[in-house]
Amino acid sequence: MKIDSFFATRNSRMKASEIRELLKLLDQPDVISFAGGIPDPALFPAEKFRDAMAVALSDGQHALSLQYSTSEGYPPLRQWIAERMTQLGVPCGADNILITSGSQQALDYLGKLFLSPGDTALVGWPTYLGALGAFNAYEPRFDRLDPMGNRSADELRAEAEAAGGRVKFSYLSPDFANPTGITLSLEERQKVLAQAEALDCVVIEDAAYQSLRYEGEDIPPILALELAEKGDLDQCRTIYCGSFSKTLSPGLRIGWVCAARPVIDQMVLLKQAGDLHTATLNQMAVAHVAADGFEEHTQRLCAHYKARRDRMLAALTRHMPDGVDWTHPEGGMFVWMTLPAGMDGADLLATALRDEKVAFVPGGAFYPDDDGRNTLRLNFSSPDQVQIDEGIARLGRVITEALA
Ligand code: PMP
Repeated sequence: MKIDSFFATRNSRMKASEIRELLKLLDQPDVISFAGGIPDPALFPAEKFRDAMAVALSDGQHALSLQYSTSEGYPPLRQWIAERMTQLGVPCGADNILITSGSQQALDYLGKLFLSPGDTALVGWPTYLGALGAFNAYEPRFDRLDPMGNRSADELRAEAEAAGGRVKFSYLSPDFANPTGITLSLEERQKVLAQAEALDCVVIEDAAYQSLRYEGEDIPPILALELAEKGDLDQCRTIYCGSFSKTLSPGLRIGWVCAARPVIDQMVLLKQAGDLHTATLNQMAVAHVAADGFEEHTQRLCAHYKARRDRMLAALTRHMPDGVDWTHPEGGMFVWMTLPAGMDGADLLATALRDEKVAFVPGGAFYPDDDGRNTLRLNFSSPDQVQIDEGIARLGRVITEALA
């Protein structure tokens, strides 16, 4: 019996990557890894979570925290998020908020909500690998999101129709994107919105890193720009996905969607069918911890990660040979590097691990097609400053050697 012959066709696009196999080598203690994308556990507010969990499990509260609860989410947490969205320029109420099990679940549900097989999703080239993974299960066609480019809405629409579907949404992460670290200017955000209006499609705004800004001024979310124009959130086509993973804890799996009520209402049905609701205890703990000094906590995080980013940028300037370029992220966790054309990031990773015990993610993984082979992603939130100096020196040697 071949069990995989029973798998539904949508599974054919969901493959484990070869890179994952290589990255298993990272467990060796002497490897310096820029391949992760995870927060520094030293900054988890563990003490606050211990207290919050104790409160949520106390006699008065355990009947709530250990019980089934509503699919929409824990009301005080939805309320706190609605206030935070209001501060970000999106005045809204708790009924515009759905709590999800991480923003990753929101991406899955949005794929399920909008994509029929053959529909087109416009995504950055490169884009967040986890979004490609989430959307892939719904068998879309991916096309380039490039609102500053020269393909008109009519051309994009015609190509989507020729492929047997419609352009359903643009997906992007406007602040300190994963993997590039790039932030969209106000003008670029307006273009994204204008293009979605012209195409009559939805915008999925992934704000996973929004709180992690190390320099420059906050730029309003695309949803805020649209709401300012339309004056009614229920008329907005932008769907904002937020997360506590990069600020408080990824392990608790708490994210949210802020959107027009018809979108929230339909996603509540998907949530009911998917997992009933997000873990109540975790929602209660996050509500407690978020209400107790969220701003101060994110300021501490930003100071910590800014120092690591600065250290990485300085080390890159010292150690990289001519012909290598990299981004200057204003926040987030990643620097994106472009090697001279013809170099291959996956080959380089094999050499880097073997000769210098340093790791990164080859950039090709973040493209829906075979593009970007000469790129790579470097994470600066996990390694400490000494590891950053040493690891970038090693990487500089590997690249210099490969170019020689
Ligand atoms: N969006 C982006 C851009 C991410 O980088 C991540 C996590 N790596 C997520 C969404 C998912 O995060 P979570 O589900 O933990 O909220």
